[in-house]
Amino acid sequence: MPSHQPTSGDPAVKPEFSSSTAPAQSKPAPEEPVRNKKYDPKKPHITETPMTRKNWYKHVNWLNVFLIVGIPMIGCVVALWTPLCWQTLVWSVIYYYWTGFGITAGYHRLWAHTSYSATLPLKIFLAAVGGGAVEGSIRWWARDHRAHHRYTDTDKDPYSVRKGLLYSHFGWMLMKQNPKRIGRTDISDLNDDPVVVWQHKHYLSVVFFMGLVFPSLVAGLGWGDYFGGFIYAGILRIFFVQQATFCVNSLAHWLGDQPFDDRNSPRDHLITALVTLGEGYHNFHHEFPSDYRNAIEWFQYDPTKWAIWSWKKLGLAYDLKQFRNNEIEKGRLQQQQKKLDQKRGKLDWGVPLDQLPVMEWDDYVDQANNGRALVAVAGIVHDVTDFVNDHPGGKNMIRSGMGKDATAMFNGGVYNHSNAAHNLLSTMRVGVIRGGMEVEVWKRAAQENKDTMIIKDGEGNKILRAGNQVTKMVDPPASAGAA
Ligand SMILES: [Zn+2]
Ligand SMILES: [Zn+2]
Repeated sequence: MPSHQPTSGDPAVKPEFSSSTAPAQSKPAPEEPVRNKKYDPKKPHITETPMTRKNWYKHVNWLNVFLIVGIPMIGCVVALWTPLCWQTLVWSVIYYYWTGFGITAGYHRLWAHTSYSATLPLKIFLAAVGGGAVEGSIRWWARDHRAHHRYTDTDKDPYSVRKGLLYSHFGWMLMKQNPKRIGRTDISDLNDDPVVVWQHKHYLSVVFFMGLVFPSLVAGLGWGDYFGGFIYAGILRIFFVQQATFCVNSLAHWLGDQPFDDRNSPRDHLITALVTLGEGYHNFHHEFPSDYRNAIEWFQYDPTKWAIWSWKKLGLAYDLKQFRNNEIEKGRLQQQQKKLDQKRGKLDWGVPLDQLPVMEWDDYVDQANNGRALVAVAGIVHDVTDFVNDHPGGKNMIRSGMGKDATAMFNGGVYNHSNAAHNLLSTMRVGVIRGGMEVEVWKRAAQENKDTMIIKDGEGNKILRAGNQVTKMVDPPASAGAA
């Protein structure tokens, strides 16, 4: 999830608290260029200049470095001399959850994805505590997040994990970004939401009050610990909630499984879910972004979903969107099928019939009589030389089929061979027989929709199901060569 404003002078993005150069704009107008003196589209952006030893500092967004790294470090040092009383600790944890939900249930699921609707009181609460997480305004955050979903893993993704784990975590905020690079998204619905517009317009006041003043006031008025509230429920809590939500962009695109689609980077993992109040089922989320849930199983950890569901019960949230199970299971099945196809592609199924050389029947008989261990089953010639001694039915049985049409023998005349035997036999194929009765057998197999009915998997390999091998005959015709 994004945090601070990465660049200044972005024509498409309104400046946030961390923008040092862009002037505040009273009414959001995302698609109109801001008349910004410092933004000159003709001048190359600093990111278009290669980083050197002389100019590296110009690539760094120093304000964000101070806000994301500097202040928390100062907070950690000051905390060493600040006693932590238990009430402040409990309050810090509670406020961590509130501000975390402001991001996950508010910024993310309500505003970026409109996965449910909220009543005005809930919207105001989420906009306030979300501001307290110090991750930029709803409007700016949701805009980048929609670009992240629309252009996942591409150059237009503001925090593409393809640029490295640390980059996707917070490198994208610590280094300046070229505003022209980030993909465009439609945020007209957010511009029509008075809560979003109000929060954006008064963002600096919101972040200062909800990020630092409010947590200090609660601790101060409650049990007289103003400074402890400021350090623990304010600064350090901001640090933890920021780092936790940044994990959705880094960890959730790097660690875990891909049960729904593995063509892009999002992944599902319990650890990410634990860290991010349930946003860790990210493979599901990228497939079904407007579902109010990230975890769909009852036993998976998704407290954000539980919170939204509880708000619905209290009458504060409504229109919770949910994809039909049928759609979810289709996606899961297709991904499983893809994995199966990859496994199938690694197995030896024998030379495809259409790639085998054609042999005359007489030639087959001749070669078999002259010592080559050839057995014809269903019009296909198999070289069983390496298998004769290992034949479970004994050497003599297999030898009795050499130079003959062993179709009937193999399919119950002597022994009704197992599925595994048909599979193994197919790996010994060396040719197909032209003419005569044997081809009729093969044609019949074709009519029975066996090997010749070509069903190909995603890897382009034929799918050969048990019992469908071309050598398998339920009712083999009597043939001249059969025993
Ligand atoms: Zn993502
Ligand atoms: Zn999302």
